[in-house]
Amino acid sequence: MLLIFIINKMTLKRKTKQKEIIEEQISKIKTFFSAEELYEIIKQKYPEIGIATIYRHLKEKEKGKTLFSYLCERRKIYSTEKKSHCHFICETTGKTIHFDLDNIDFIKNKVPGKISSIQIEIKGICNDCKNA
Ligand SMILES: [Zn+2]
Ligand SMILES: [Zn+2]
Repeated sequence: MLLIFIINKMTLKRKTKQKEIIEEQISKIKTFFSAEELYEIIKQKYPEIGIATIYRHLKEKEKGKTLFSYLCERRKIYSTEKKSHCHFICETTGKTIHFDLDNIDFIKNKVPGKISSIQIEIKGICNDCKNA
């Protein structure tokens, strides 16, 4: 009985430690990242942390609204800081160009609720093609 308790406690401790490691790595990333990219970074120093643990952690954070997710060229990407993810798709080449939105006031009043994150896709002709 006592042994089981100790083992449980050890598992719990290990899990907490792993969470701390993942958290620390996430806090270092200032831009968008995928679960796979995060895993690659963590794996170098902490090979004991599996990708399933990372997926689980990201899911929890997303639920807790401390992480925002976006879809980028069929890939799911995350950010803790960036609350918008914007694509400008060139209709001539099909190329996706990323841009940042510093101010979301223009849309705030139009949205029937509180915004937590924004994903925008705009199509047109990019400057390179326009000037060519
Ligand atoms: Zn993107
Ligand atoms: Zn173009």
